[in-house]
Amino acid sequence: MENNFYLAWSPDSKIQEMGSSGGAVTSLLKFALENKMVDAVLAVKKRNNSRFDAVPALITDPDLVHEAAGAMHFAPLNMVKIIKEYLDGAMDMRVAVTCKPCDARAFIELAKRNQVHRENLFLIGLNCSGTFLPTVAEQMIREAYGENPQDLAGEEVDGGKLIITLKDGSTREKDLEELARQGFEMRENCLRCSYKIPRMADIACGKWGNKGNAATFIEICSSKGHEFLEAAVQGGALVMETATDEQIEERKRKETEAVENAQAREKKELDELKGYSSQQRLEYWVGHLNRCIKCFGCRDACPICFCKECYLEPYRGCIPGGETPPDIMFQLIRLSHVADSCVNCGQCQDVCPMEIPLTRLYNFLNREVADIFEYEPGVDINQPPPLTTVTDQELFIDPPDIIYEDASAR
Ligand code: SF4
Ligand code: SF4
Ligand code: SF4
Repeated sequence: MENNFYLAWSPDSKIQEMGSSGGAVTSLLKFALENKMVDAVLAVKKRNNSRFDAVPALITDPDLVHEAAGAMHFAPLNMVKIIKEYLDGAMDMRVAVTCKPCDARAFIELAKRNQVHRENLFLIGLNCSGTFLPTVAEQMIREAYGENPQDLAGEEVDGGKLIITLKDGSTREKDLEELARQGFEMRENCLRCSYKIPRMADIACGKWGNKGNAATFIEICSSKGHEFLEAAVQGGALVMETATDEQIEERKRKETEAVENAQAREKKELDELKGYSSQQRLEYWVGHLNRCIKCFGCRDACPICFCKECYLEPYRGCIPGGETPPDIMFQLIRLSHVADSCVNCGQCQDVCPMEIPLTRLYNFLNREVADIFEYEPGVDINQPPPLTTVTDQELFIDPPDIIYEDASAR
């Protein structure tokens, strides 16, 4: 293979039907498992056949890969934390993972910090035009589209519209801006995200530039990507043809449009915050952060947070136990820990029960750090992170004897 741009599809008509865009990703995953190129596949599948209830699935049986077939826009799951927390960072297991660009970026950041074993990961990047929270999406289908959410068979974002397909095969489309005016907006981080094609993964797969949904447009981004695709083609699991200049151009045009929209949105947000005086900015953030109930959800959801002994735990002595709102250092410590590595994935904001705009805060600082150090987190695995906040010594230190304060006595 000499080119990096291909159209690919499954030769199996059943897989074509189940997967999206010709079923190339499903076929590739099945082939990789059957031929023991990986030990497991980590992908997202529907629970109870609902498009609003997606769960991660670790699949080792090739005949079950089809359960995770098809694209989902109402499933903002975090694949990185699963590899890090439950699969020991893929240290002893070869895993193929389907990942959005923000997942792929987080994998790169963690790999730089030796928290995941990049060599054992086959990252199948999926282009991403943005995701909705499932609760927002379900209400949107009911109220804005006037349809029963259980009748939904699929959805896609294209040309500034959300196009839904119902189980009877009919489609409905609505303008994203109009949906936002009705209160049904994508996740805030997605609106400002300019990573639509995950080139930091081994391959980047999507619809842009494909021929009428009959194939997946694949950009090969690494030698591992080449190796897997070549094996799948030779093994008869994939049909591939070189993308034409026209198709490459079409994909580029759609990417440029999406990135420009995201950059405009981010600029608007940043300009608004920068327009505040220092005092106003302080009041804005302190006002939000004072609502924190210290549930630790943001820390636990963040793919980048990985300290084995977290400074936010009361026994570390930085943050007194029992207080809500917590000492402002609670957020400032987390902020400093992810200042150079936050990938704008939005997980922290998604889980915050107090609806604090956390990702906006982290993104605000992260953009400054990126400018100062000329460092984009999660893009280049060979570029070392500019800030080092945790040393090996700190990682492996024995926890001190703990004397917990009696919160009720405070
Ligand atoms: S942050 Fe970017 S990559 Fe992640 S879900 Fe949103 S649009 Fe997709
Ligand atoms: S701080 Fe929030 S947005 Fe940034 S990487 Fe962590 S969870 Fe994602
Ligand atoms: S998720 Fe929200 S409420 Fe919970 S600790 Fe984080 S900021 Fe505080």
